[in-house]
Amino acid sequence: MKIGVLAVQGNFREHAAMLRRLGADPVEVRKPESLDDLDGLVIPGGESTTFMRLMRLYGLDEAVREFTGPVLGTCAGMIVLDRRHLGAVDIEVDRNAYGRQVASFEADLALAGDDEPLRGVFIRAPRVREVGSEVEVLAEHDGEPVLLRQGRFIVASFHPELTDDTRVHDRFLELVREEGHVRA
Ligand code: GLN
Repeated sequence: MKIGVLAVQGNFREHAAMLRRLGADPVEVRKPESLDDLDGLVIPGGESTTFMRLMRLYGLDEAVREFTGPVLGTCAGMIVLDRRHLGAVDIEVDRNAYGRQVASFEADLALAGDDEPLRGVFIRAPRVREVGSEVEVLAEHDGEPVLLRQGRFIVASFHPELTDDTRVHDRFLELVREEGHVRA
């Protein structure tokens, strides 16, 4: 499975390492052409304003809009995919909306369909304020959604690439496998 990791900014290396560990073949994406033969795409954390600026500069915003495979967006990657940016996932997100003191924290998250809690690392994380009817909540923190899925999109407000827990990437790769069969 060839999985692109958007590598214009942010922590794309950790995602690539995680994907490699799970047997996928990660590819660093810096130009639109690199999206052509990918089975899936990861948009990592970083700074969403910088992401949007660089993506526009390289024509990657259009390319990502046209990409038809599964996409995993984490933290800033979630913001990039929301209603106000690329409009791929029907969620309303507030940037840096956890107060200053708790801007970065870790928490155990209840994961849908799994008894084992998921450790979430939140770094100046976005907060999901509104969720459209097509969006499924996969994990919550304090009653608020932090891991969501809409069709071929999975978004997390935390950083699954920074722990040893592979379950978010596992689910994403499962989605890539399923979609691959549908598209084939
Ligand atoms: N605070 C960043 C933003 O608003 C996101 C932080 C992150 O990706 N770790 O884009």
